Amino acid sequence: MFDYLIVGAGFAGSVLAERLATRSNKKVLVVDKRNHIAGNAYDHYNEDGILVHKYGPHIFHTNSKDVFEYLSDFTDWRPYEHRVLASVDGQLVPMPINLDTINKLYGLKLNSFEVEEFFESVAEKVPVVKTSEDVVVSKVGRELYEKFFRNYTRKQWGMDPSELDKSVTSRVPTRTNRDDRYFTDTYQAMPLHGYTRMFERLLDHPNIKVMLNTDYHDIIDFIPFKEMIFTGPVDEFFDFKYGKLPYRSLEFKHETLNTENYLAAPVVNYPNDNLYTRITEFKALTGQQHPKTAIVYEYPKAEGDPYYPVPRLENAELYNQYKKLADETPNVHFVGRLATYKYYNMDQVVAQALTLYKKLTEKSDEKPRKPAIAGSTALVNKMVARDPAKS
Ligand code: FAD
Ligand code: UDP
Repeated sequence: MFDYLIVGAGFAGSVLAERLATRSNKKVLVVDKRNHIAGNAYDHYNEDGILVHKYGPHIFHTNSKDVFEYLSDFTDWRPYEHRVLASVDGQLVPMPINLDTINKLYGLKLNSFEVEEFFESVAEKVPVVKTSEDVVVSKVGRELYEKFFRNYTRKQWGMDPSELDKSVTSRVPTRTNRDDRYFTDTYQAMPLHGYTRMFERLLDHPNIKVMLNTDYHDIIDFIPFKEMIFTGPVDEFFDFKYGKLPYRSLEFKHETLNTENYLAAPVVNYPNDNLYTRITEFKALTGQQHPKTAIVYEYPKAEGDPYYPVPRLENAELYNQYKKLADETPNVHFVGRLATYKYYNMDQVVAQALTLYKKLTEKSDEKPRKPAIAGSTALVNKMVARDPAKS
């Protein structure tokens, strides 16, 4: 009998497995349908021996001391501050847009005060900033919006920025100084030996069993457990009862090149050209020395593995219906980027998992709740039936 069945060996599932096993002495089974742990943060050495991120570049950054200290028990770090160039009008310029971006793009020599005036002169008045278009045009005006954001966003999301919540382009700031870092968080670092090694250490405990290549549907009837933690797509869990939640996918094209360095920056964004959005050179992230170099192109797609929840009002409303169902489902806890339909970075998922752990341990003496609506799904019924507290 397992205390917990955890579906998904990504950040959400692995952090909870670690806490429950080491702090609460719970017996945990972690299943993942993929053939590896670490979820989308999975990295591995490719056939040339270069460390690459299978699912695109993952850069760790956080303002949370708690999250950083927690993960530091499982990895050493390589200090790393991420930098991105955007290919615009035939030039490579810093992204996020900063003082140097404007000076290079327009052949100017403005200082910080002058560039602030410049932004004010081109910014459009938007009474209420609601969409991802509003965010950018209200700060830097339409021309820069079109050069840097409009086409990238259309490519990445398959829709216009005016159709997306403001939170999407708000992830990228505008600066009037020369700071060309992509993030300004207090803690910015890469796991010294990679993400997968960190996950191996998270999951290395006698109370934790890991089953890979296993869809939970295939084992749920055979393996006894008390509670479930679910980190996959929430709509799939409920058999798409209210319809499909849109997720955006990507195709990753990995290449190894017979040259020591390829890009002028760790990542180069292509807002206006090509079918891909960006190219990443992994050695720049990991610091690995190697005579060859490995890169990845990201091609956005509508179909495929679900990578990004799509932040817009109608999707939030649909998600809220699923959330209600999730809240009413006894003995199942939903956590992570797919299960809570949130465009979360890794550190936010770790924080969410640590919060859920606290909640689970605080209520561990309580009896499981009864479902508020009878028989949410066949699966839930099965799980209620096997709950030893009820049988
Ligand atoms: P996941 O990592 O998706 O794990 C969920 C797991 O559940 C998966 O392994 C899946 O196989 C498994 N699963 C699903 N359904 C089933 C089932 N039926 N049975 C068994 N297993 C199942 N964040 C950052 O902080 N910095 C970055 O630079 C960054 N870059 C990113 C780049 C890309 C291209 C993408 C897509 C994401 C990026 N992220 C980044 C976000 C980061 O990947 C996520 O925040 C984090 O990995 C989410 O962890 P999770 O555990 O919620 O989900
Ligand atoms: N974005 C853009 N141009 C860029 C970089 C980002 O338009 O050069 C927009 C785009 O909509 C993107 C969002 O800002 O999806 C968030 O960018 P981020 O780099 O955070 O995306 P992620 O790394 O999560 O894919």
